Amino acid sequence: MVHDVIIVGSGPAGLTAAIYTSRAGLKTLVVAGALWGGQLMLTREVENFPGFENGILGPKLMEEMRKQAERFGAELIFETATSADFKSKPFKVTVGNKVYESKSVIIATGASPKWLGLESETRLRGRGVSVCATCDAPFFRNRKVVVVGGSDTAMEEAFVLSKFASEVKVIHRRDKLRACQFLQEKAFANPKITFVWSSTVQEILGKDRVEGVRLQNVVSGEESVLECDAVFLAIGHKPNTDIFKDQIELDQTGYIVARKDTRTNIEGVFVAGDVADYRYRQAIAAAGSGCKAALDAEKYLIGT
Ligand code: FAD
Ligand code: NAP
Repeated sequence: MVHDVIIVGSGPAGLTAAIYTSRAGLKTLVVAGALWGGQLMLTREVENFPGFENGILGPKLMEEMRKQAERFGAELIFETATSADFKSKPFKVTVGNKVYESKSVIIATGASPKWLGLESETRLRGRGVSVCATCDAPFFRNRKVVVVGGSDTAMEEAFVLSKFASEVKVIHRRDKLRACQFLQEKAFANPKITFVWSSTVQEILGKDRVEGVRLQNVVSGEESVLECDAVFLAIGHKPNTDIFKDQIELDQTGYIVARKDTRTNIEGVFVAGDVADYRYRQAIAAAGSGCKAALDAEKYLIGT
């Protein structure tokens, strides 16, 4: 059977796209991936998704989106796509030993934040360890926070945090920043932001919530403890595009290139959410682009 649309990924982008395509009567298959629901399944309170005055738990929000898509007839499979073939039509998406065919595809595989790989980081995730200042900075009003990283995202996270926290210390593993000049100057000029150079985080301290970090100076090897209430990691993201790399245009850092709105260089293949967006990385932005991709796919299918 040839589907009208296959959506790869089931975060806010993929599930919003599924709500729109299935409600429009398009035969929709969602290849949901190993982490169905996407990045919000890794968090607790989401306070900035419109419609929930008192916030909503990330997994609850995603469950509601999934049920809404299923109510309109979207079919979900909770597996990971292992390859894709966009060279001929119908397009093919392979999941293990099964091949699914469709007239159009929406790629919504997201991007994964990079983590340091510490046990304490996993244990304290959502308890002071965060990868999103826009999401979590308001929880740390008048508190001491650290940001790990030395590039553009780290600076932007520090700016957001400086509006809430009493002090923001940026911990960077080298003695100079990778961030662009403009952001560097802005960070150096901000009285709340200071830097701890040439240092790595060895451990995040605290039992039930973050109480500090144990640092090591990479030059002297010396260890020290810095007290803080939160640790914001800004050490980069990896777009989940490995399976598409020979099939579709990617930029130098592996993000899918959206040419106009949600269209890619392959006619009939659309993209939505963080997999094409290193800039906004917000659930509502991903959901909005999922809506656009669905409408673009619908329009494309009418014309075929
Ligand atoms: P994702 O949510 O990353 O979903 C991608 C989906 O693709 C997943 O379902 C994954 O399983 C699937 N996938 C990947 N590869 C494959 C494959 N090969 N085959 C099939 N499926 C695949 N944003 C906010 O607006 N507010 C918040 O409070 C907030 N808090 C956050 C807290 C944390 C801890 C994190 C990590 C992020 C947070 N964000 C928040 C950011 C927000 O979660 C993302 O911007 C948003 O989830 C992006 O949506 P997406 O659908 O593009 O991708
Ligand atoms: P990035 O450029 O890859 O930088 C990651 C930072 O984290 C680097 O400073 C790196 O250190 C550090 N780092 C990586 N792994 C680490 C580890 N294990 N331990 C400690 N530190 C680690 O990521 P990004 O800042 O998210 O930016 C991604 C892309 O988006 C870039 O192209 C960036 O220019 C762009 N971006 C642009 C804007 C903007 O224009 N306003 C905003 C955000 C992002 P080193 O410096 O030592 O490598």
